Amino acid sequence: AKSQQRAGHFYFTRNMGVEIRERVRMMHALRTAFSKHELFLAYQPQMDLATRKPVGAEALLRWRAADGRFVPPDRFIPIAEYSGLIIDIGEWVLRTACAELVRLRAAGHQDFTMSINVSQVQFRHPQFLQVLRGALADTGAPPRYVELEITESMAMEEPETFIEMLAQVKETGVHIAIDDFGTGFSSLSHLQRLRLDRLKIDRAFVTEISGASRGSSIAEMVIQLGRNLGLSVVAEGVEDELQARVLQQLGCPLAQGFLFARPMGAGELSDWLEDQAR
Ligand code: C2E
Ligand code: CA
Ligand code: CA
Ligand code: CA
Repeated sequence: AKSQQRAGHFYFTRNMGVEIRERVRMMHALRTAFSKHELFLAYQPQMDLATRKPVGAEALLRWRAADGRFVPPDRFIPIAEYSGLIIDIGEWVLRTACAELVRLRAAGHQDFTMSINVSQVQFRHPQFLQVLRGALADTGAPPRYVELEITESMAMEEPETFIEMLAQVKETGVHIAIDDFGTGFSSLSHLQRLRLDRLKIDRAFVTEISGASRGSSIAEMVIQLGRNLGLSVVAEGVEDELQARVLQQLGCPLAQGFLFARPMGAGELSDWLEDQAR
């Protein structure tokens, strides 16, 4: 009881103990997996809705645990952030995705873009700019074909420091997309002050488009907003043809989702791109 009191009047219940132990276990397993190179990237193509041709891909982190099962990123990324592991893992993601972009360009996919997820913890780390510049320089990835996906909520916290940081990141030449757009209630005036390139419509608003309805007006609003601000827009989580058609009618230029392709390994992506070019 004494030690519990020393820990800031924090009393563990039985379940909390189990949960914390599970998190600590996962943190160790993740650290081991990372050092043993058991993490890898899957790439999901992004399509031009009008031509139905691939224009880029999003890099998505994968972890196959020792027992062969995949741990979903939604589960292990919060742990990576919380433990600080995301700094090293995030740098590895940047370098690996940039290197893959360079390989794809060498294989003839000259206009292909690579979208890379960057966590809040990583973006706000004092060394982030240096890490980004290093990844670009060492891999030779052309910055204008690299896009960083950051979340809407990230832009909302401490906006002044964020705007300053974003300006420096933009100076490297990379593009910036706001991920999961529509979920974070950004103010318009605020958005205009950020030098963004693209908005990603959250899957939740794409899913709402079904046979029964064209969905809420949110997807439509984001597309309109993108147009008014001169930004590119990509819809994520497009699973059926109806959604693709409605989005295209609404003026959405780009889409990503199981309708076109699932995230796939680097080798598979190359083969898939060859097939698409035929
Ligand atoms: P996100 O950035 O919103 O990524 C989109 C998620 O939707 C991916 O899940 C993708 O596999 C999934 N998805 C794509 N198309 C469809 C579809 O048509 N239907 C459905 N139901 N799902 C679709 P995933 O790979 O499990 O990633 C989950 C989240 O983990 C990502 O959400 C992102 O926030 C985070 N994440 C993934 N990789 C990284 C990374 O390298 N760094 C960081 N910081 N976060 C990452
Ligand atoms: Ca993303
Ligand atoms: Ca997203
Ligand atoms: Ca999402």
